[in-house]
Amino acid sequence: MAEKLSAVKGMNDILPPESARWEWLEQKVRDLMARYAYRNIRTPIVEPTALFVRSLGEVTDIVEKEMYSFEDRLNGEQLTLRPESTAGVVRAVAEHSMLYDGGKRLYYMGPMFRHERPQRGRYRQFHQIGAEALGFPGPDVDAEIILLAAALWQELGLANVRLEINSLGQPDERKQHRAELISYLEAHAEVLDEDAKRRLHTNPLRILDTKNPAMQALVEGAPKLIDFLGKASLAHFDGLKAMLEANGISYRINPRLVRGMDYYNLSVFEFTTESLGAQGTICAGGRYDYLIEEIGGKRAPAVGWALGVERVLELVKEQGAAIEPLVPDAYAVVPDASALPRVLRTLQALRAAGVGVQMHAGSGEGMGSMKSQFKKADGSGARYALIFGADELADGVVTVKALRDGTGAQVRRPLADPAGWAASLKA
Ligand code: ATP
Ligand code: MG
Repeated sequence: MAEKLSAVKGMNDILPPESARWEWLEQKVRDLMARYAYRNIRTPIVEPTALFVRSLGEVTDIVEKEMYSFEDRLNGEQLTLRPESTAGVVRAVAEHSMLYDGGKRLYYMGPMFRHERPQRGRYRQFHQIGAEALGFPGPDVDAEIILLAAALWQELGLANVRLEINSLGQPDERKQHRAELISYLEAHAEVLDEDAKRRLHTNPLRILDTKNPAMQALVEGAPKLIDFLGKASLAHFDGLKAMLEANGISYRINPRLVRGMDYYNLSVFEFTTESLGAQGTICAGGRYDYLIEEIGGKRAPAVGWALGVERVLELVKEQGAAIEPLVPDAYAVVPDASALPRVLRTLQALRAAGVGVQMHAGSGEGMGSMKSQFKKADGSGARYALIFGADELADGVVTVKALRDGTGAQVRRPLADPAGWAASLKA
């Protein structure tokens, strides 16, 4: 036998029945997005490397060490598997001048790639669902998009998801804060770890996001960005808070919430849970009013979030609604292979009428005994067996047998008119 190949480390197969949970989540998301008037956008998985370097910033975990970048062997282009999707969405919005007739509300779902150390809730191929509202400057849309996420937790039956918010103000406000932050950190240089030392002059704000316990006290006492915000920034933040409060959304202000990417301004937020161990952030986002311009579009305000599907589904598994396994409505029992052409026609008509039918397959090796076919019918979870015996076919009928209601009741149905009785097979 040839050597066995396996999936790339940190990249998972999603198999049935687990994949049903994914489809269930995706359907919930589609329904919800429609109710908030967010429309689906699909962008390529591969983008020019420069897009991510420019949008995320050089001194970010993603650009420094997590990107799957490669050179196209045929034309030498520098390409990257997308580590996130906001950059691609913004590129598409600018490229297609999508804001020419006003703001756009968009959502996406799909795989993302980051070369990280795989562990629970952290993979190299993982999936995000994201919402982005572009062209709207006000805190009303910040509130809308947060309410949308909160509504999703509700739909999924998740409790104990907490919201943290912060404001990063505007670039000039950040600049002032940055100068004071650097002086403060320099004054405590002996406490800084290697990462922090490296970032001190490139991205000091990110130091506040450190997970190093030895630096917590230092970070705790650092100058807070919120104290540097001007009137307009504070008004935006107050607007958001008022709208969340009016909608019964509780939140905690976390002055150290800075987010990993450079591109955020004003509102930033995260939804976290304590149920998932160290990987407790299930959804994160914020406003990014300067990003579109950064990648060559016309300046336009924007706000968005992305959630980690694997983490959300793990939470669903722990505390969410039970998911019904997918089962066919009916299982076709076919004693004799010679009946198959006729049987397939009936099954096609039933499926066209919306019935889920699993066909007993096996004509190559013989159909197998009735007993073994019924065992398979049972195992399939179907509520009915459709028995296409020789007697039935001679009479132009099929026997429909109830498998799950304890009655074992049988009725004969005309083969000529599947649409006429298809509804009786549905749940
Ligand atoms: P973390 O601090 O956990 O690395 P992040 O700030 O890098 O998260 P974002 O880029 O904001 O994460 O992505 C949004 C969401 O996507 C995260 O909150 C998380 O739920 C999910 N996510 C990010 N990276 C991974 C990963 N490697 N595997 C699984 N989910 C991920
Ligand atoms: Mg990360």
